[in-house]
Amino acid sequence: MPEHAAHGGPGLPQERRVVTEIPGPRSRDLQERKGAAVARGVGTTLPVYIVAAGGGVLVDVDGNSLIDFGSGIAVTTVGNSAPQVVTAVAAQAAAFTHTCFMVTPYDGYIRVAEALNRLTPGSHDKRTVLFNSGAEAVENAVKIARSHTRKQAVVAFDHAYHGRTNLTMALTAKNMPYKSGFGPLAPEVYRAPLSYPFRDGGLDGATAARRAIDVIEKQVGSENLAALVIEPIQGEGGFIVPASGFVQALVDWCHANDVVFVADEVQTGFARTGEMFAVDHEGVVPDLIVTAKGIAGGLPLAAVTGRADIMDAPHAGGLGGTYGGNPLACAAALAVLETIEAEGLVDRARAIGKTMVERLTAIQTKDSRLGEVRGRGAMVAVELVRPSTTEPDAELTRTIAAAAHSRGLVVLTCGTHGNVLRFLPPLSMPDHLLSEGLDVLEQIFEEHP
Ligand SMILES: *Cc1c(COP(=O)(O)O)cnc(C)c1O
Repeated sequence: MPEHAAHGGPGLPQERRVVTEIPGPRSRDLQERKGAAVARGVGTTLPVYIVAAGGGVLVDVDGNSLIDFGSGIAVTTVGNSAPQVVTAVAAQAAAFTHTCFMVTPYDGYIRVAEALNRLTPGSHDKRTVLFNSGAEAVENAVKIARSHTRKQAVVAFDHAYHGRTNLTMALTAKNMPYKSGFGPLAPEVYRAPLSYPFRDGGLDGATAARRAIDVIEKQVGSENLAALVIEPIQGEGGFIVPASGFVQALVDWCHANDVVFVADEVQTGFARTGEMFAVDHEGVVPDLIVTAKGIAGGLPLAAVTGRADIMDAPHAGGLGGTYGGNPLACAAALAVLETIEAEGLVDRARAIGKTMVERLTAIQTKDSRLGEVRGRGAMVAVELVRPSTTEPDAELTRTIAAAAHSRGLVVLTCGTHGNVLRFLPPLSMPDHLLSEGLDVLEQIFEEHP
C-alpha cells in the first residue's frame, strides 16, 4: 500500500498524479474480484479502488491521485474525511455506536432535527424525522403527505430522479437502468412536464407551470393529489435549472389545492448550489424538504423536515427505522453543519461555480458541441449536442468522460439522454486543482474535435 495513502483528509498532497494507466493493475485485480463477488447490478463509473481521499483528490490502490469533480455524487461537500467530521465520528464511536432512537434515544438526533428546523427555509414551526438514504426519506415524505391530506396520488416530473426503492423508482422518470424489469411499480404516481429552458423553447416559468398544472388537473385532479415532489434543480435528470418562477407557481397552486409541496433537495442541499438549499435562490418555502447526500460528509443520513402540522400527521410509531438517525451519522451531520458555517462554504460554492461557468463558457464559445453550460454554485453541467444543434450526443459525452478519467480527473455524466457532463467538486477543492481539472477538460475537447 502506498505510504501516502495511510491518511485521507485535506492533508493529502493536493496534486493530480497519474503513475499507472487508469485503472491500474491493482484496481484491475480488484475489479475482477468484484465481478466474481458482487452482483452485476451494481455498476461502477470508474473502477479505480480508493484508499484515501481529501481536499480535492481521490488516491487509488496504484498510487494515482485523481482530481475529484464528483464528491461521490454530491456527498462529500465539506471534503472527504473532513477533520471536524473525523473527530466527531471518532468521539461518538468511542462513546456508543447504536441504541436505536426508537428504543433508547440520544441527543444527537434532536440536535440534528433542531439544526434542520432552523436552517431549512421558512420561519414556521417545523419537525424533522431522520432516515438512512435519500430514497427512504422521499418515500417517507410521501407517506407523511398522504397521512396529512388523506389523499393518495403523487405527481413527479419528467427527468426526475428520486431513488431506487419501489415507490421512488416509480417517481423516477428514466426506465433504463432504474426501472426496467423491476415492476410492478407503485400505483398512484403521475408525471407532469418540467420547465427545461434548453429544450422547451425557453418557456417562461409561469407558462411552464401552467402547462404542468393543466396536465395535473386534467389527468389526476387535485382532490386526489396528496403531494407534488420536485427537485428544485434536477440532479440525475441533467442538472436542469427550471425557468425562474416555475417552482413558486407550483407551490402557490399546491397551497390553493390542499396538496403538499415536497422539495427533494437530496442532491442540491447543504451549500452545494451557493445557497444553503436550492429553493433559497428564489425564496421558495416548501412544505416538506427532503435532504440526504451532503448532510453528513459521507455517513448515511437523510431527513424529512417540514411544517409541524403536516409532519405530525402520522400516528405515533408510524415513522422510523432501525438505523434512522444513527448516532455516528448524527455526529457527522452536526460537524458538517458547523463546517459549512465556519468555513463559509456557501460562498465557496459560489466562487467555485463562477470559475467553472466562466471556463466552460469560454470553451463553449469555440466549440458548438457544448449546447448549454448551466447550474448553480458548485453544481454545474454541460449538455453536449451535435455541433450547432440541440440533438443530444451521448457518445461524445462518454468519450469526454472516459478521456478525463484516463488523465486522472473524475467527472460524472447524467441526463435522460446521457449527454450531460456534471461537475460537483467538494467545496474543499483547492483553486489550483479546480483550474487544473478545467484545463484537462479544455484539452480533451480540443483533442476530440
Ligand atoms: C441521490 C438522490 C436520491 C436518492 O438518494 P439515495 O441516498 O441514493 O437513496 C433522491 N433524490 C435525489 C434528487 C437524488 O439525487
